Amino acid sequence: MKRHVSTDQNHPEKVESFSSLFIGGAWVPPVDGGTIDSIDPATGRVWARVAFGGKQDIDRAVSAARTAFDGPWSRMPPYERAALMRRFAELYAENVEELAHLETRDSGRALRETRADIGMHPKYYHWFASLADKHDGRSIPMDDSVHVFTSRLPVGVVGMICPWNVPLMSACWKLGPALAAGCTVVLKPAEQTPVTALLLGRLFEQAGFPPGVVNIVPGYGRGGAGEALAEHEGVDKIAFTGEGETARAILRAGAQSLKKYTFELGGKSPHIIFADADVDQAMNAATNSAWTLCGQSCALGSRVMVQRPIYDRVVEAFAARASKVRVGLPLDPSTHMGPQSSLEQMEKTLRYVGIGCDEGAELVAGGRRLEAPDLAEGYFVEPTVFAGASNDMRIAREEIFGPVAAIIPFDDDEEAVAMANDTAYGLTAGLWTRDVGRAHRVSAQIRAGIVWVNTYRYIRWTTPYGGFKASGWGRENGVEAVDAYLDTRTTVISTTGTFPDAYAD
Ligand code: NAD
Repeated sequence: MKRHVSTDQNHPEKVESFSSLFIGGAWVPPVDGGTIDSIDPATGRVWARVAFGGKQDIDRAVSAARTAFDGPWSRMPPYERAALMRRFAELYAENVEELAHLETRDSGRALRETRADIGMHPKYYHWFASLADKHDGRSIPMDDSVHVFTSRLPVGVVGMICPWNVPLMSACWKLGPALAAGCTVVLKPAEQTPVTALLLGRLFEQAGFPPGVVNIVPGYGRGGAGEALAEHEGVDKIAFTGEGETARAILRAGAQSLKKYTFELGGKSPHIIFADADVDQAMNAATNSAWTLCGQSCALGSRVMVQRPIYDRVVEAFAARASKVRVGLPLDPSTHMGPQSSLEQMEKTLRYVGIGCDEGAELVAGGRRLEAPDLAEGYFVEPTVFAGASNDMRIAREEIFGPVAAIIPFDDDEEAVAMANDTAYGLTAGLWTRDVGRAHRVSAQIRAGIVWVNTYRYIRWTTPYGGFKASGWGRENGVEAVDAYLDTRTTVISTTGTFPDAYAD
């Protein structure tokens, strides 16, 4: 990987340079791409220049992935593929600190969060490695004339298109199951956060993966490498995380070649606190799930629904806790919450604060950009709380992707369920209650891909994750994730070798 440091003309800071793409096991300059400036959201300045690929680079990467798929990767015994994945996981573990620092620079996510998140990824890769040689088929009983069985085969070359909020996590959730299934990959990170994916290339190289099994091509989405991947006839599946509108564009682009898809899209998750809950514990979860990742996560419980008897108490506690969140420079290990990932995202959040006020919700905490001298050039906003919100307000219906909680009152189970489901999305949901019957009753009625009871955001390699409705197609994590990268072949073998002549009489 070509990486060097220079100074930027306009700013005295050092600018890192990552000048090559990882294609066919080699570090190569782009053919029809160029260089992307990656902005440090804490300063608003360029911190890295990164090579990006164009259509021809995607052609090269897809062709390398196809050669690897048809050649060494599919011929390699699955237990050897698993061993390579385990080696990769070990190298990943050794590099967590570097990966966490770079992800924090690129995305602005606080170092304490990137360390914790990225520190878990080796466990994902180890677990998926353990599934690489377990794609059992079935033997299907029929009659004595045939022997019927199924085999599970990798779908082929997979294009992975990742978002900027959780670049390495999104890559991990796709690479683990895809490699376990025996697929080969072209990975395109988001243009806002292109750096860490390239480091993965270095780790795959060091682990000894055959050339072309994983190819990494940063690039733009619409009109760029993303679109080229989405429409490429040589790509068998697209695994995408991002916005619903982008998923629709990806579907249109791939319609001609009828690919397979996994879509992890947005969310506007209900976080329901009943009056009989352990309110302190619920508050720990509700505040964390409103502000972690600076609110830039699809899984956040941004609709906090609170039963009326404890409503005022929860609003008060929410506002008090907002003032305890340390918003600051993301590389400072004591910082709880860093900046938003981009100027655009910060402006969007502030726009929604205005919308919430105009809609009549009561701003009880935050809502402003931070202006302290060391933060003023970055994209920092305060943790924000709206009380008196209702489920029909835009702040309760639209994905803000900022640290904004809307607290909505409700009266009973029926109203809680109706409100929770009254959304275009269906990704995650949380509920807090000490009544075990209510926990079962209510969770069973919620239309979401994952429902947490008396906890929130418990996501692991074993827990299938994905959405109902506009939140997506398919699941990441769990054995379901590997399934999504496999096809089934049914083989029918006649035990007699005879076939009746249909035209004999
Ligand atoms: P986005 O859809 O704008 O971009 C995601 C990726 O798609 C980027 O790599 C981008 O370059 C690429 N892209 C954009 N247009 C494209 C096109 N026409 N063809 C091919 N590729 C294209 O999303 P974002 O703003 O980066 O991410 C935020 C969104 O991701 C939010 O809506 C969030 O809810 C969602 N998200 C979902 C999950 C989940 O697991 N469900 C996880 C994280 C983020």
